[in-house]
Parts: sequence; C-alpha cells; structure tokens
Amino acid sequence: MFVDRAKIFVKAGKGGDGSMSFHREKYVASGGPDGGDGGRGGSVLFVADNQLSTLLDFKYKKKYHAENGGDGGAGRCHGKNGKDLVIKVPVGTVFKFNDRIVADLKAKDDTFVAAKGGNGGWGNTHFATSTRQAPKFARVGLYGDEREFELELKLLADVGLIGFPNVGKSTLLSVISAAKPKIANYHFTTLIPNLGVVAGDEGESFVVADIPGLIEGASEGAGLGHAFLRHVERTRLLIHVVDVSGIEGRNPIEDFDLINRELSAYNANLEDRIQIVAANKTDIVQDNEQYQAFLDEMKNRGLKVFEISAATRMGVRELVSYVASMLKEIPVPETVVEDINHVDYTYIPDEEFTIRKENELFVVEGPYVTKLINSINFEDYESLSYFQTMLRKKGIVSALEKAGIEENQIVRMDDLEFEFVF
Ligand code: GDP
Ligand code: MG
Repeated sequence: MFVDRAKIFVKAGKGGDGSMSFHREKYVASGGPDGGDGGRGGSVLFVADNQLSTLLDFKYKKKYHAENGGDGGAGRCHGKNGKDLVIKVPVGTVFKFNDRIVADLKAKDDTFVAAKGGNGGWGNTHFATSTRQAPKFARVGLYGDEREFELELKLLADVGLIGFPNVGKSTLLSVISAAKPKIANYHFTTLIPNLGVVAGDEGESFVVADIPGLIEGASEGAGLGHAFLRHVERTRLLIHVVDVSGIEGRNPIEDFDLINRELSAYNANLEDRIQIVAANKTDIVQDNEQYQAFLDEMKNRGLKVFEISAATRMGVRELVSYVASMLKEIPVPETVVEDINHVDYTYIPDEEFTIRKENELFVVEGPYVTKLINSINFEDYESLSYFQTMLRKKGIVSALEKAGIEENQIVRMDDLEFEFVF
C-alpha cells in the first residue's frame, strides 16, 4: 500500500443561533429585547508540517468536523465561538477541489483554510429600532462550508532518479546524499520514494528523489508506476539511470526508450523535462560493443551522458557538479492555484432537506427548514428578505427549480404555504 493520495470530507462548524429574548425584571412591565448573538462556527484549516511524510492518516480518518458555535442567550449573552480544527499535512500536499488545484502547501507552516465556519446568528437585540421596539425574531446561525477534497502528496525534489528496476538508482542516491531523511518504518516503506539531500561543490544543496517501481507497476497496468510519476512532476531535472553493463541481458537503448514512453504516456509535460543520462555499472560491462552503441545513440540525440559506476563512485562527482550547475538555471515550476471561492461547486447535503411533490404542491421538509420558518417574522420586511436569502443560500431555490417548479406554483414548508416567485 502506498498512500500519497486521499479523499477527505471537511465540515466547518455551524454558527450558533441568535437568541430571541426579552429583558424581564420585577415591576418592569415589558423589557426590551436582550437576545445575544450566536457564536461563530469553527473553521477547518490545514497546515504543512515537515515531520509528516505520508497521507496515511487520511486513509483511516476521512471526515473532519470543526466545532459548532454556541447559541446566544438571554441578557445579551454571546454564544461561544466554535474551536477551529487544525490538521497537519506533509509539506508538498496539494488540495484539489472539484478537479481544480486550490491549495499547494509547499513550505512548512503554509496554511489553507479549507472550510470557513458559519457566522453566528444575530440575537433580537440587533433588530430593535425606534419604530420596532420588540422585534420577535432572531437569526439562525449559518452553516459552515462542507467540502470534499482530494489530497495529493507531491514530493518537493529538485531532481528525480528514473530508470528500470535494479539499474542502481538507490545505490546512486546513497552515495551522493549527504543526509538521508528518516523514513517511517511502515511495511510499505520500499514503495515510498526515497529522498536525499545532495551537497554540490559550492555549498549549494538540492534534493534528489529516487522514484522506484516505475516499470513494475506500469507493466502490470495497475498504475503504480504512474502514482510515482506524480513526484517526478515537480522535479526540475531528471537523471535517467541506465544499466549499460548488459548483465541482465537487456539492451540499454531499449530500456531508455521504454522509460521515456512511460513518461510521455503519463503527462505531456514530462517529456520536455531535461534529462541527464547516467550510464551506470560501467565497472562490469559485459558487451563493450553494445555499450558504445548506447553512448553513440545518446550523443546523436544530443543528450548529456555521464559514464559512472555507483558502486565504485567513478564519475559520480562530475555528474553531481553538472546537475548542481544546471539547477541554477532552471526555474522552479509554479503550480497554478485557483481561489476556492471561485470554483463552481454546489454541495447540498441530503440530510438537510428533501423536496417531494404532492399533486401540484412542492413540499420542502427537514430540520433546517423547520428551524428557519420558526425564526422568521413574516410581517417584517427585513426578516422576510432574510428568509429569501437563506432559501437561496441553502440551495433550496435551486433544488426546487431542479424538481421542476415554475413561477407561481405553491411551496409548502411546515405550516407555511407561499407562491414561488424567485
Ligand atoms: P535500483 O532498483 O535502481 O534502485 O537499483 P539498486 O540501487 O537497488 O541496485 C541494484 C543492484 O545493482 C544492487 O545489487 C547494487 O549493488 C548493484 N549496483 C548498483 N550500481 C552498481 C554499479 O555501478 N556497479 C555494480 N557492479 N553494481 C551496481
Ligand atoms: Mg531502488
């Protein structure tokens, strides 16, 4: 199992309801309104943390709810604000919403507000005016955002090591890395790309990712290899390791082409990524002619080739300093991130309301509907307009339209019937 992708559901807290209450005191005939506001619902936030290296947690827990706001109370008592829910994700986590990238947490502490808590409703104190001294309504708190995201972990490596299994990628990484980050001891560790920090000659450093399993998975058609290619996507440069020894009886030119076909099958952009060829295992070349043919072919194609031996370290230094100098000139690719509030998406949780048709009548039912109706004073213009806004906001209007309602047909909600004139 390799977890670098997960689907999760987040729900921010609902705002608390405003309170409708009147000041009561002995000997005071009728007190003014004193209902307090509801508290704000908690939001759901994600923060990048570099202690984490997988999305494993999200495989097991998929739903995340932030706390609701508390209701307002009498005596202008403000409801308690809901606590924000802060969730850690590995650095390099990308959030997709409705197939669009809406966040890219590239560095430690980068934060993404994935779902905003609902505002608390106003208590009736807000609605007192000189002409309306005893407002008989308060507002219900608004629902928080509810959204589904796809999380993808893309390692932030500058250089990707690609090539057939067993050509020496891991060996090369182990001899060029100055430091190896710890990798959690999961049973599937071998399937997580290994990262190594490589120090160049002039004190600069870059991160190299060993991308295993490319061909094994791809040939099975399981797409495992492609899952790893996601990590390659972010690299600026690829070192294509080829076993030129012929010890496994394969032709290095064919190996090279096969890997490149995999790359182009995955994503058109990858074919254009600069590739440096590391002709490895030159210490045990079996077929010199085949080896020379490979070198000639690469040079004909205008590719830079380094003849190396990861085992004896021959040529490795030159390869590293060349890569370091190339990286200075290649910009870091930018991810296009869209503002989540501008991505079209309507989420209508089905438990909130249902619509059924009774002859010509459209009946809307559900706990929210009941609550909304109860909080509205239909003689009051302001309250009525709030009612209409909420019908729209909660998706009731669009759901009615989907159910086929036409202008002037009758809608029933609880004990209320009205004409549809939106
Ligand atoms: P990977 O699957 O591409 O990561 O390959 P590995 O790094 O695991 O290496 C596969 C085998 O090839 C191991 O037994 C290595 O010791 C061996 N190997 C790697 N590089 C060289 C090399 O330059 N010369 C020789 N003789 N063996 C090597
Ligand atoms: Mg390996």
